[in-house]
Amino acid sequence: MDEPEHTDVVVIGMGPGGEYAAGALAEAGMHVTAVEDRLVGGECPYFGCIPSKMMIRAGNLIAETRRVPGLAGTSTVTPDWAPVARRIRDEATDDWNDKVAADRFIGKGGHLVRGHGSITGPGEVTVSALSGSALSGSALSGSAPSGSGPGGERVFRARTGIVINSGTAPAIPPIPGLAGTPYWTNRDIVQAEQAPESMIVLGGGAIGAELAQVFARFGTAVTVIEALPRLVSFEEPEVGELIERIFTREGITVCTSAPAERVSHNGTHFAVHVGMSVHTASRLLVATGRRTDLAALGVAAVGLDAAATVIPTDGWMRAADGVWAIGDVTGKGAFTHMSMYQAGIVVRDILSQGGEPADYRAVPRVTFTDPEIGSVGLTAAAAREAGMRVRTGTAQVPYSARGWIHKAGNDGFIKVVEDADRSVLVGATSVGPYGGEVLSALQVAVRAEVPVATLRNMPYAYPTFYRAIEDALRSLEEAS
Ligand SMILES: Cc1cc2nc3c(=O)[nH]c(=O)nc-3n(C[C@H](O)[C@H](O)[C@H](O)COP(=O)(O)OP(=O)(O)OC[C@H]3O[C@@H](n4cnc5c(N)ncnc54)[C@H](O)[C@@H]3O)c2cc1C
Repeated sequence: MDEPEHTDVVVIGMGPGGEYAAGALAEAGMHVTAVEDRLVGGECPYFGCIPSKMMIRAGNLIAETRRVPGLAGTSTVTPDWAPVARRIRDEATDDWNDKVAADRFIGKGGHLVRGHGSITGPGEVTVSALSGSALSGSALSGSAPSGSGPGGERVFRARTGIVINSGTAPAIPPIPGLAGTPYWTNRDIVQAEQAPESMIVLGGGAIGAELAQVFARFGTAVTVIEALPRLVSFEEPEVGELIERIFTREGITVCTSAPAERVSHNGTHFAVHVGMSVHTASRLLVATGRRTDLAALGVAAVGLDAAATVIPTDGWMRAADGVWAIGDVTGKGAFTHMSMYQAGIVVRDILSQGGEPADYRAVPRVTFTDPEIGSVGLTAAAAREAGMRVRTGTAQVPYSARGWIHKAGNDGFIKVVEDADRSVLVGATSVGPYGGEVLSALQVAVRAEVPVATLRNMPYAYPTFYRAIEDALRSLEEAS
């Protein structure tokens, strides 16, 4: 094997946080070696947030156009997936080619190594060659692990440490018959050239719900199969109930409390068995969560539990001596904004710049269905479980002045959760048009622990959607 190569920091995985941290540390003058086995930028730009939000923008345009009658004249719309597919290919992903991102990092003075990184000792990362890149665009910039070690391995010794940003991959549930069928995950559906004639979506979480609604709007006959009693079950119960009503109204078949028991594929169609029912469709999207593989990362070599699903970290994202972890793998919220937030903390820690450690009290979540679901902090149930005396207040968007004016497409509500003993909000939900944007005021209220009395004693612009926050605060009462 070749002599180890010396560097200051090795970043394993170039998701949004890894890319930011690696670039910032390189710009600060450190010798940074970034290891990436797919595409620089990770899931978000190529398979996640950005392509899915381009689809959603297109689906929402169709829905808005269909709302013209009764408000602004007549309209007809003929959905066409081709411009959506083209935009994702040309504008979002460069045909799943990361040259721009890779060159940007190299331009900052970083060293990019293509391959799979695993920790092989304290401060040591061994990079093995990829058996065959799944994505042609990933081999353009950066160097291959072409050392003389077994299989072309290269060994890096980090003087300062290792930053893990390995992210997550789609979790495939062990449903009999599923393995071996040509199901889709998010990584396939973003590359779809056509909207399928019919599709079953397995899993009614954020990703499943967003994609189900998009494709239904493009004419696909969609069935959502969810094992739990509600869609988006991590949110307040009223959210799942509302989204199910809206999906049903839009022609989506929603099956909740419906664990899939068996899957088969006959060459053209999937069949998913749930109790006595059999659902069939030409496509099956598996959106049943995400998984990590810490054993493949070699975390045991630095004393971490390889059988765990997440890497525990302290407020400075330190996981072990000389090891930091950021992003989905930390289990603090699988969001790009979380990965970037944590990356900023690591950069400050490594560069001894001080500042504040991580604070997870006001993590915002947005599911980009129509209506958008924004939420922050604790649900009422979680606050009660945490031992708080809880009061909740709710305002319905359609009964607010702006919601009433908006009319078609005005579904939604604002719910606030108060720790009654401290008179501060500890959680909030904002469902409705621009629900994710309305959330911003609620996030500040939760994060800064603004007294409810202060929130009540200020004017809310008339007639905005966020003005319904005032109505929700007015209706605060003890939850039973
Ligand atoms: C369909 C979909 C929609 C989403 N929409 C949103 C949204 O609207 N808003 C939002 O905030 N979040 C969204 N997310 C989540 C978001 O994509 C992730 O939270 C985000 O990418 C941050 O992940 P990360 O930084 O942990 O790493 P990732 O983005 O997962 O990247 C990790 C990278 O590390 C590489 N890697 C892993 N192990 C190794 C190794 N051993 N050696 C070398 N390389 C390795 C991986 O191949 C990958 O490229 C969405 C996700 C999906 C799937």
